[in-house]
Amino acid sequence: MTEKKLRRSRQRERILELLRRTEQHPTAAWLYDNLRDEFPRLSLGTVYRNLGILVESGKVRKLDSGSTFDRFEINRGDHVHFVCRSCGRIFDLDVPETEEFQRAVLKQTGNRVTGHRIELYGECEQCRASA
Ligand SMILES: [Zn+2]
Ligand SMILES: [Zn+2]
Repeated sequence: MTEKKLRRSRQRERILELLRRTEQHPTAAWLYDNLRDEFPRLSLGTVYRNLGILVESGKVRKLDSGSTFDRFEINRGDHVHFVCRSCGRIFDLDVPETEEFQRAVLKQTGNRVTGHRIELYGECEQCRASA
């Protein structure tokens, strides 16, 4: 492996590590801020490129949030997201899966659900406490 390639794969490893360690669903800019000390020659574009490769390989999932910046997370399979409208944080909700809902969909419409993407919006616990 060339030195350049080695550096690229080191950067990807570190991006994965950061994503594994955080419960936030960070933007590329957040990742960049956390890696620029370690990799002085890193650019935001490189972070995006690395994220693109990781998304393609299925290790990372991109959350399209419409007009706002894309967020990224380790691919943990289907789960429910809570988006706080006050502070903008996105986090995973550890709530029971939606089997009952899926059964209802099958029964009422004949369509079988094989995956889901659920985003709930509201005010998080922290924001509620400080209101
Ligand atoms: Zn909040
Ligand atoms: Zn998530």
